[in-house]
Amino acid sequence: MIVLKSPDEIEKMRRAGAVVAGAHKMIAEAVKPGVTTIELDQIAAEYIASQGAKAAFLGYNGFPASICASVNEEVVHGIPGDRVLVEGDIVGVDIGSLLDGYYGDCAYTLRVGDVSDEANLLLDVTQRALVKGIEQAKPGNFLQDISHAVQQEVEASGLAVVRQLVGHGIGRKMHEDPQVPNYGKPGRGVMLQEGMVLAIEPMVNVGTIDVRVLDDEWTVVTKDGSLSAHFEHTVAIRSDGPDILTLQ
Ligand code: MG
Repeated sequence: MIVLKSPDEIEKMRRAGAVVAGAHKMIAEAVKPGVTTIELDQIAAEYIASQGAKAAFLGYNGFPASICASVNEEVVHGIPGDRVLVEGDIVGVDIGSLLDGYYGDCAYTLRVGDVSDEANLLLDVTQRALVKGIEQAKPGNFLQDISHAVQQEVEASGLAVVRQLVGHGIGRKMHEDPQVPNYGKPGRGVMLQEGMVLAIEPMVNVGTIDVRVLDDEWTVVTKDGSLSAHFEHTVAIRSDGPDILTLQ
């Protein structure tokens, strides 16, 4: 069941989203060679608490940290720890917040210093795919118009969209209906209507689409060890089009 949000609820979600955006801003400034992923986690945790919000991922199904930090071949759900980031790494940072009963969810993949041409292409394409998907998030379109736009942008550059993980509705719960795949056919799926709020989140691999979960039972990696990137925004569907809620 898809829960529609009133304009008032959307404004509450925008405040939760702004907290996530603020944490991302601080992390983007902190990411450089020599920093550990647990240091990034602490920066986000302190900022989120300072805003009177809760880190949504901490304790979610037992997840042990405030953010997900996924390095290089890690796709999503990486657990922050004492891993030191080095020049040339890419790190996907996913942050969720809970404020006043509503969730915000947003991810960026960041460059650690200078990165390879392959990594630059991957990040540019994945971010562009998110933009293309968001552009389709308007009333009267269909859910898979978003999916198709993402997939088309990714595959045009010879990269691969992950199938096993998808975006989601979001609101009073972090994960609501509908699922938002990053692949699909135009005109399929539910019709989009005003008040739907979706977390749109392309996950893109340089190599094959296949992924597996590490023994820590969280970290998702590419099966072939190729690089992976992840970008995400929480987006409300409004009468005049998409409204990105995870901005400052
Ligand atoms: Mg999400």
